[in-house]
Amino acid sequence: NHRADFQAVLDEIDAKIRSMLGHGGKVASYIPALARVPAERFGIALRTCDGIEACAGDAAEPFSIQSVSKLFTLTLAMQHLGERLWERIGREPSGNPFNSLVQLESEQGKPRNPFINAGAIAVADRLVSLGDAKADILALMSSLAGEAIAFDPEVAASEAETGYRNYALANFMKSFGKLDNDVEPVLDMYFHQCSIRMSCMQLARAAGFLCRDGAHPIDGQQAVTTERQTRRINALMLTCGTYDAAGDVAFSIGLPCKSGVGGGIVAVVPDRLTLAVWSPALDVTGNSLLGMKALELFVGKTGLSIF
Ligand code: GLU
Repeated sequence: NHRADFQAVLDEIDAKIRSMLGHGGKVASYIPALARVPAERFGIALRTCDGIEACAGDAAEPFSIQSVSKLFTLTLAMQHLGERLWERIGREPSGNPFNSLVQLESEQGKPRNPFINAGAIAVADRLVSLGDAKADILALMSSLAGEAIAFDPEVAASEAETGYRNYALANFMKSFGKLDNDVEPVLDMYFHQCSIRMSCMQLARAAGFLCRDGAHPIDGQQAVTTERQTRRINALMLTCGTYDAAGDVAFSIGLPCKSGVGGGIVAVVPDRLTLAVWSPALDVTGNSLLGMKALELFVGKTGLSIF
């Protein structure tokens, strides 16, 4: 496929989705900075393995990436810890809401997977042990995106103010001896990673290593992750990346995806391209309603799916 073909596909999707904006879905409202994002936004961007880029709609507008950050903190932890990471975190879909506490008790404080909140908090704990976690994640994101990436201090502060459940999860894991650091610095890292602001274009670029067997999206030489780690991250995205809708997403879209409550979704077509979509109104599962619709249209139009 050439750039022009992809551009035409994205333009068609943009036109179709725009006609559907404002009908259905709800913008996340647990903090003011997310509640005031206009629902009528839609962006889509892609980057192929050989660096061809295309985008449409609000693809250059930065938004709160929220749980999409879990993909990149996992990447950073895998880079540094390799197999040791899995001593503390499982690889099974939870079948429970992303912020659920129940399984943590029967599983002795070991989270089911790195994409539920408990799992991401356990990953954050490992990153805090390794160095300056907040600086390290921004350095990784900026390197992958090829542009400076930053936290949104207002969002990070609101996450901390309203993060009762995340405090509960972290304290519960700590009570089982499953966090090495104090709860405060671990959650400070977690709340900051949730507050990262990026655009669809930046996210499509940053995730690029996932469609290139781990090769750095921009320089192409340096390995971000090994080939095997890349396959594993994609497997986790497919099975656990979209909250409680992963089965449905595999069924209707068939691509590894990671979503966030800011309305962003990153999707991977291994060996071909990475895609990022954004539309703030969420469905009942917490995934972007029209973002998912856009991915479904993309797979329908291009036939690019892993199945
Ligand atoms: N920051 C929110 C939380 O940790 C939501 C993250 C998300 O699922 O996108 O509860």
